[in-house]
Amino acid sequence: MQVVFSERDIAERVGGLAREINADLGGGPLLVLGVLKGSVIFMADLIRRLEMPLRFEVVALSSYRDGDEPGELHFYGMLPEARPGERILVVEDIVDTGRTLTELRRHLDAHYGRPVSVCVFLNKPGRRRRPVAVDYTGFTYPGDGFVVGYGLDYAGRYRNLPFIALLEPEDR
Ligand code: 5GP
Repeated sequence: MQVVFSERDIAERVGGLAREINADLGGGPLLVLGVLKGSVIFMADLIRRLEMPLRFEVVALSSYRDGDEPGELHFYGMLPEARPGERILVVEDIVDTGRTLTELRRHLDAHYGRPVSVCVFLNKPGRRRRPVAVDYTGFTYPGDGFVVGYGLDYAGRYRNLPFIALLEPEDR
C-alpha cells in the first residue's frame, strides 16, 4: 500500500477547506449532509473546524458497482428536512466518474428547492464521464487507481486508516 496523502497533509487541507467554508457560508445556520459511509470521518474532522451554528444529518445511498464500474444508484430512507434559513452543505468522500454526485445533486435540488453546496474530499478526474459542479475540493488525485483510507473502503476494510493510500493487488 502506497501512501498518497498523509495524516498531516489531510489535517492541513481540512483546515484550509474549513476556512473557505467559514468565509463563504459563515453568515448563518448550516445543515451538513454527510453521505454514508465514506464521508463520516472527513465530516467529523471538517465540522469541528466550522464556526457557524450547524447541525448534521446523514444520507444513505449506495451505488452497486460491477467491478470498478458504477452501477445503479439507490437512496435509502427519507431526506432530512431543512429548517428555514439554513444553508445546505453536502459532504461526499470521492467523485470519480461523477455519476453519484450528479444523481445526488438532482435529487437534493428537487427536494430542497434551494441551492445546495457540495464539498468533496477527493476528486479523481481521470474517469470523469460528465462534468460535475463541486464547490469545495479537498484533494485532486490525478491517477485512476483505487484509493482507501480516511473513510474510504475496499470491501468494507481500510476505512480506519488515518491516511489515503493506493490499493495494491496484495491488499485485495
Ligand atoms: P462515482 O459515481 O463518482 O463514479 O463514484 C462515487 C463512488 O464510487 C464513491 O462514493 C465511492 O464509493 C466509489 N469510489 C470511486 N472511486 C473510488 C476509490 O478510488 N476508492 C474507493 N474506496 N471508492 C471509490
